[in-house]
Amino acid sequence: MNRRELILATSFNKKAIEESIECGCYTCISIHQPEHIKEYTDDESAVCPNCFQVTVIPGEAEGSVEYDYLEYLNEHFI
Ligand SMILES: [Zn+2]
Repeated sequence: MNRRELILATSFNKKAIEESIECGCYTCISIHQPEHIKEYTDDESAVCPNCFQVTVIPGEAEGSVEYDYLEYLNEHFI
């Protein structure tokens, strides 16, 4: 994933988040159940319930998020 794709994944992602089994925040490297995401920005981008950043990515095709992948994103994009 490049930076542009990452921005796309964290923006307007409410539907994708709700359809995932889990989602992950790459700022604080935490994995959440979609129902734990209580806050979305006005443009419907998920807000992390842990660190309150808009850096939550939905699960991949199989619906889950790899911890290692969040670590990778954190190292390269934060
Ligand atoms: Zn977070």
